Amino acid sequence: MTIKVLILGGTSEGRLLAERLADDARFDVLLSFAGRTENLQRPELPHRVGGFGGAQGLASFLLDGGYQTLVDATHPFAAQISANAVDAAAQSGVPLLRLMRPAWQKQEGDNWLEVRDMAQAVLALGTEPRRVFLTVGKLELPAFESAPQHTYLVRTIDTLTLRLPHARLLTARGPFALADELALLERERIELLVSKNAGTKATYAKLEAARQLGIPVIMVARPTLPAAAEVSTLAEVEAWLASHVQLPSRRGE
Ligand code: NAP
Repeated sequence: MTIKVLILGGTSEGRLLAERLADDARFDVLLSFAGRTENLQRPELPHRVGGFGGAQGLASFLLDGGYQTLVDATHPFAAQISANAVDAAAQSGVPLLRLMRPAWQKQEGDNWLEVRDMAQAVLALGTEPRRVFLTVGKLELPAFESAPQHTYLVRTIDTLTLRLPHARLLTARGPFALADELALLERERIELLVSKNAGTKATYAKLEAARQLGIPVIMVARPTLPAAAEVSTLAEVEAWLASHVQLPSRRGE
């Protein structure tokens, strides 16, 4: 028997999971992207792009499409869609599993200041002008407009127009290598690094580089999400999905 799986993606794990399931005859998978990235790398498997129209829209999409399972493999900072997934699962009766990669943990030698949100990160930069490496994603940049005294190096995937007076854009898509991150931080004489606690392997090298160079990191904590069944590995998602193949009548649990 085949079950229909909707994967909310926008992460490397979501893509990898969809690729693995697409090769498995037990699953009929659709990978969903928000459409935030301009240069979306389209996968060679069934996918869709764009919002659903809130939790209710997602619930209707699940019911209309006859989906039997929903996997939330979105980014840990994509709080709205994760909350919508919880609501939509409750409304539709479609079982939900969240795939959440573990957060980065502070290592010996790290100099992290952990803050609860982007507004706190801006305040933590201080009043004196500093050379700051911003790796927080394009949507978070407006928060830094209230601290124009700093010189920013901003790294994003898409190109954009910066609204900060002393800022330069570096467009690049990970993974990033340690040697390159070390060279970048040194060349740019970076004094502070700002990062979300994304937990991604592909972007971890900047933190190792900061550790080696003694550069402080302002680390923004993850938002709190509504409770949901949660796992951290693809194997666990596959086992959960397999249990729904064997027990199709458990829909609605
Ligand atoms: P968000 O604030 O949680 O979601 C905003 C809206 O975008 C949602 O209400 C939903 O629109 C739509 N949406 C989000 N993810 C979607 C998906 N996978 N498929 C279809 N619609 C989706 O999300 P965000 O922080 O803007 O992130 C957008 C996407 O980028 C997510 O898929 C996330 O995985 C990825 N991403 C985010 C970050 C980050 O730092 N936030 C970093 C890397 C990748 P409707 O309400 O209309 O359904």
